Amino acid sequence: MAVFNLRAYDDHEQIVFCRDVDSGLKAIICVHNTNLGPAVGGCRMWDYNSDEGALIDALRLSRGMTYKNAMAGLKMGGGKSVIIGNSKTMKSEELFRAFGRFVEKLSGKYITAEDVGINPNDMAIVNKETNYVLGLEGKSGDPSPVTAYGVYKGIKAAAKHKFGSDDLNGRKISVQGLGHVGYYLCRHLHEEGAKLFVTDISKESIERVVNEFNATAVGIDDIYGLDVDIYAPCALGAVINDNTLPQIKASVIAGAANNQLAEDRHGDILLSKGILYAPDYVINAGGIINVSFEENYNRDAALTKVDEIYGTLTEVFEASKLSGRPTNVIADELARQRVADAKKK
Ligand code: NAD
Repeated sequence: MAVFNLRAYDDHEQIVFCRDVDSGLKAIICVHNTNLGPAVGGCRMWDYNSDEGALIDALRLSRGMTYKNAMAGLKMGGGKSVIIGNSKTMKSEELFRAFGRFVEKLSGKYITAEDVGINPNDMAIVNKETNYVLGLEGKSGDPSPVTAYGVYKGIKAAAKHKFGSDDLNGRKISVQGLGHVGYYLCRHLHEEGAKLFVTDISKESIERVVNEFNATAVGIDDIYGLDVDIYAPCALGAVINDNTLPQIKASVIAGAANNQLAEDRHGDILLSKGILYAPDYVINAGGIINVSFEENYNRDAALTKVDEIYGTLTEVFEASKLSGRPTNVIADELARQRVADAKKK
């Protein structure tokens, strides 16, 4: 496999292929960039079809963490790890201990955390071998309410830019996905007087939000074509695609989901349609900001940092307006600039 020639390879500083025969561990740790600080990013456990698929995922996700951490104004670089295997059948104490030893060998250059397929118990085992773990239970707690708070602030910034006022009272907002983040987001929006339209694949999640926040439930596929001011994707990735784009009537797209644009070119289409898009990794950084405050955790300090999402997004929106280029492209450029500036310092 010609790693350096892969399209997903973006001058990553270090890639560690981890193998422990006894436990069956096969993992890849990608340190994308440490200009701003140690590479921080979660560990994903996934049954990849090929080793190359796992590597490409880790390369992309680690670069994403560099951008996310840079735009959140954190002194953290970007990294990510993947454990190759079925998270339902292949977990064991030995496996996570072996993974922990690999993390430990990097002496703090990479700090791991939970991601898809990994739960707090798994990370507690990793923590037996290394202290380079963030997001442990009993420390900064569930990041989702903080992510939701950041998304709420980001929606206000987008409303200010698009409509001239960040007051959400009376605004029609659709929320797709009422899980850990979506539920708390609905609470903030309802408290400010927004009119909510919601969907989820879980009936109970819908009922809770309908009952508690006076929301209107809509069908799974009806969420895109609603005549609303703001659409907040809080479920899956790739929801902005060739099929959904022609349906979208909202003037603003701002939500928590990761990788909302199916492809970068969908950012150009949003711009041409006059739809303001809040780049996902900028608006959903509340959780990583919360975790970054884990040592001597102080909720107020974390929330004050999360408040900065409003200003960061405003910077992105204004630069996009000035240059006539899509917000997703501007965010990537600003992130790269911050990383380059850190190297000069
Ligand atoms: P979650 O799993 O708790 O919630 C997702 C919700 O989406 C669930 O209620 C699920 O039933 C629903 N859903 C699934 N498929 C759907 C569909 N087709 N249509 C409508 N709803 C559907 O996840 P979460 O923690 O709330 O995260 C939501 C999104 O935000 C994810 O993309 C996640 O990667 C991203 N994110 C989360 C955090 C965090 O702190 N939790 C931080 C950054 C980004």
